[in-house]
Amino acid sequence: MTSTDATEVAAWLAAAPRITVLTGAGISTGSGIADFRGPNGLWTLNPAMQRMFSLDEYVRDPELRKTAWINRRDHPAWTAKPNAGHRALVDLERSGRLRALLTQNIDELHQRAGSSPEIVVELHGTLFGVECLQCNARTTMENALERVAAGEPDPACEICGGIQKAATISFGQALRADVLDAAVRAAADCDVFLAVGTSLQVQPAAGLCDVAVSRGAKLVIVNADPTPYDAIAAALMRDEISDALPALLAV
Ligand code: ZN
Repeated sequence: MTSTDATEVAAWLAAAPRITVLTGAGISTGSGIADFRGPNGLWTLNPAMQRMFSLDEYVRDPELRKTAWINRRDHPAWTAKPNAGHRALVDLERSGRLRALLTQNIDELHQRAGSSPEIVVELHGTLFGVECLQCNARTTMENALERVAAGEPDPACEICGGIQKAATISFGQALRADVLDAAVRAAADCDVFLAVGTSLQVQPAAGLCDVAVSRGAKLVIVNADPTPYDAIAAALMRDEISDALPALLAV
């Protein structure tokens, strides 16, 4: 870890032909979407909420599923707007140097800001899709929530009758292999790996930092709180992301 100043980090980023970015909940807090582990995080304020993210509990408990559908309906992502941090990454893509935008977020704010869907790798899936846990059929969240509004508190798969869930990754559920492969390739193939707004506590996403560093990339971490990867970072920034990111990528 170094006390590199922002000007020097901005110069690295400006000179890097290939930058891979990993974003976490911290980039969306500025858009009104609470993170999980921060001081005002969902799980910090209400540890019982973690149950909602366990696949075993979800399958076992119909009451929990009903609550989960209500939470999806009321999720701030439906109305949230991208912030300056998301927009700075759109500008980076336009400069032609964004190798990939890996995100742990399920809110689609990167796409809404203007990032190309082809460049965004949604490690933990998306809130806007629904998957059947039995036959893997995929539909839209909009469709499922229409059924909830019409009186089905836990809408089952229309093909096989199986339990449905948001197309997001729960605890106890593996990442999609093709998605993880794309992320590992992008981490291995960059000059700077920029981790933004992630506490780097969830694997395998956090391990992408190791992949990048072991292949010679500089790791830059922009996050309010310390992370387990700070020791191998070339630079750490603790500033507010919606201010820090546009400044770092301004060149
Ligand atoms: Zn099904």
